Amino acid sequence: MAKIPYVKHALKNLFKAPITEKYPKSPIKMPEKYRGKINFDAEKCIGCGMCIRVCSPGAISKNIKKLNDTEQEITMSFNLGSCTFCNMCADFCPKKAIELTKEYSMVSTDKDDFIVKGSFTKKLPPKPDPKVIAAMKAKAKEKAKAKEKAKAKEKAKAKENKSKEENK
Ligand code: SF4
Ligand code: SF4
Repeated sequence: MAKIPYVKHALKNLFKAPITEKYPKSPIKMPEKYRGKINFDAEKCIGCGMCIRVCSPGAISKNIKKLNDTEQEITMSFNLGSCTFCNMCADFCPKKAIELTKEYSMVSTDKDDFIVKGSFTKKLPPKPDPKVIAAMKAKAKEKAKAKEKAKAKEKAKAKENKSKEENK
């Protein structure tokens, strides 16, 4: 009798549980330290821009909108379409405002779904008082004048000493 190949294996596997993942029906448990979708906490951010400096693909941008004379709104945007999930921004953020989560499912036909962003309000630096600036300028001028005077005095003294030496 001719042997039918793999029948034994086929019959055995019929009663076994599948070894493949049942994605997307059941979520996959990602390994520890998996670097997935970015989570940004705008409440912790101070808008220092360090994350922008360390992001090699240029996936992070900062937008500043002046709200009034004393406040500005800062919006940080992370483009997951350009992100390489290197974790550099999270590593360098001094306020721990960025986290790369275990979320791996990032599928969409809308590119806006790949933008993670958050806004916060920051106080504008105080405007310098023109009177203070004028006083500082006058002081600097005075200092430069005094320096020049001292230099000229030193020069004259050196000249005098030289002629004295020559007349000896
Ligand atoms: S997310 Fe962190 S590194 Fe980036 S601007 Fe905010 S505080 Fe600075
Ligand atoms: S994980 Fe890397 S590539 Fe992605 S935004 Fe942060 S620094 Fe840029």
